[in-house]
Order: sequence, then structure tokens, then C-alpha cells
Amino acid sequence: MMKDRLLLSEVYSGVDELAIARGCENGYVLVRRQSKTNETGVVIKVWLKCDHWGVYKGEPKVRRTGSKKFGCEFELIGKYERSCGGWKLCEVNNEHNHQGAEKLGGHPYAMRLNESKTHLVEQLSNQNMLPRDVLAAIKDQNPDNVSNLRSIYNCDN
Ligand SMILES: [Zn+2]
Repeated sequence: MMKDRLLLSEVYSGVDELAIARGCENGYVLVRRQSKTNETGVVIKVWLKCDHWGVYKGEPKVRRTGSKKFGCEFELIGKYERSCGGWKLCEVNNEHNHQGAEKLGGHPYAMRLNESKTHLVEQLSNQNMLPRDVLAAIKDQNPDNVSNLRSIYNCDN
């Protein structure tokens, strides 16, 4: 099952940027399954999987979040490369066994945005703001909650 790992040449400034860039391509959401820190507690390696990676026993069920597990084997490894001062991606398996979400509204992550944030997104989107700027605006209002931000990026294509 395991394919040859392919180390890509792109360098990303952070793990989130990396996950956003790869997930955003086709409307997939990548989640961090595991990470490894160095002796000073800094994260130097992460394992990213599709949010449909898990497998349910028996009939696939829709959870309260609406997330379905398809047993998707898509997997990436992000490694911090000191030499280039950024993150590099290693593809373990670059194939999804399902379609990506087409837009924010159709994705379970969208439900995690609370109403005020959703409203803000709509408001900003209506003003033709770029996703990056929408994120920045939301970040300003929610400095301690970055987990939701990915969803906007992931689904804005
Ligand atoms: Zn997948």
C-alpha cells in the first residue's frame, strides 16, 4: 500500500500554510494527526491526513459534525528544514478516495464557525475581499482561535 515518498521542493512558512496550500487545491481539509518536537519543544515534524481518513466499523455513520469517514489514505508529512528556514512536504500518499468539498457551506468545518464569524465571512466576502484578507479580519476579532480559519481557505475555491 505504501507508495514511494516524494519530497517536494516548495517551502512553506508554517504547518498551517502547508496544510492550507495542499488542502485548498481541491477543497479537501487536512488535519494534523501527530507531531514531533525537538528537545526544546519546537514542532519539527507533523503528519497530516485528510479529515476523511478514519474508518468506521460497520455502516459509515454521519457524526454530529457531519463528518464522514471514508478511510481515505491521503497522507503528508511536513518537516521543518532548518537549512531553508521553512517547512517542506513529503507526500506519503497523494490520492483521496472521495471528492473534495466544493464550497464552504457544504463542508462540516463550516458548522464550526459560530454565527457571528459566519456572518462576518459573508459580509467580507460580499465586499469581494480576498480569502487572505477575510482571514486577517477574523483573526483580528478572534486572536485565540485559529483552528477555524483553515476552513475558509479550504473551501474558497
Ligand atoms: Zn481524502
